[in-house]
Amino acid sequence: MSYQVLARKWRPGNFKELVGQEHVVQALVNALDSKRLHHAYLFTGTRGVGKTTIARIFAKSLNCDTGISSEPCGECASCLEVDEGRSVDLIEIDAASRTGVEDMRELLDNVQYAPTRGPFKIYLVDEVHMLSRHSFNALLKTLEEPPPHIKFLLATTDPQKLPVTVLSRCLQFNLKRMSKQQILSHLQYLTGEEKVATETAAMALLSSAADGSMRDGLSLLDQAIACGGGSVSLSTTEAMLGTISRDYLVKLFDSLLQQDAARLVEEARNVIAYNPDYARVCAEMISLLHQMALYRSEAAIEPEDDWMGEQIVALSARISNEEIQLYYQIMLQGRRDLSISPDAAAGFEMLMLRLLAFSPDAGASTQASVEKKSP
Ligand SMILES: [Zn+2]
Repeated sequence: MSYQVLARKWRPGNFKELVGQEHVVQALVNALDSKRLHHAYLFTGTRGVGKTTIARIFAKSLNCDTGISSEPCGECASCLEVDEGRSVDLIEIDAASRTGVEDMRELLDNVQYAPTRGPFKIYLVDEVHMLSRHSFNALLKTLEEPPPHIKFLLATTDPQKLPVTVLSRCLQFNLKRMSKQQILSHLQYLTGEEKVATETAAMALLSSAADGSMRDGLSLLDQAIACGGGSVSLSTTEAMLGTISRDYLVKLFDSLLQQDAARLVEEARNVIAYNPDYARVCAEMISLLHQMALYRSEAAIEPEDDWMGEQIVALSARISNEEIQLYYQIMLQGRRDLSISPDAAAGFEMLMLRLLAFSPDAGASTQASVEKKSP
């Protein structure tokens, strides 16, 4: 049997299986169960948060042979056709690839005809902001006077690019980015079901690399399983993501807080030796600073595991709130500037030295070392 990617195999078939987006799901469930249906829905949010997944479940709920309900049966011909992507009444359009006015007009010409089998003819337009102005006009005309059997499900990562006239005719739902914890617990659930052995720290690393997108999280997990030959270990995950071992990050902070320039450069070079993705290294250092700030303000922290938790506690005791804020700011800017640095490794080394140069105690220690060196 061929391997099926996790995102496909575990695609949620109904609202109950969906992870996150409770606020949107609740509103849709209420609308379906009370049969108070609008003719156009707009789902917005960053990539991989479930816009088209929710739209497909909604389409199933509308056209299920057992009738409109928030719990489509998943077994009737209509449900199965939607699941298999061959429903004649669900017309899926990727606006990123079909932007011509002719395409849109051609599709909308058929709006007047009744659906083939279900009660509704549903247009699912993904990345709707990519439509041309003429296509929007064609769409708008239909939105203004939609036949009763028509539903529009629009999805976009960029609602700002939609004409106000279109926006004002849609019920808008903003999908949130997934939290790292939501992604982590879902990935852990799936690997449990799939009987894949995992290391906690590796799973945490994948979840933060997913950066709020469940789809990215799932494909990273697929990759990690493939790289690890069927299991997910920290070392292969780090190698795959181009991240470096967490010990190195802690050592960087340690030498920085000791104001030890020579050691800081040495530790930076240890990192450079791995030729890592520097933007990601910076992102992890930034995330560590965030955790330290939370810990110092007595808020709850979410360390990847016990070891990381101990490191955060230990570093937090040696750093001031001002230093955290300053380093955070420098790291954010430094991360952005890495892309324009002619040599990423040198750029990273300079960034580490910049942290030291702007440390509140740096003036005193530089002075001391100069005095020490002078005869
Ligand atoms: Zn059904």
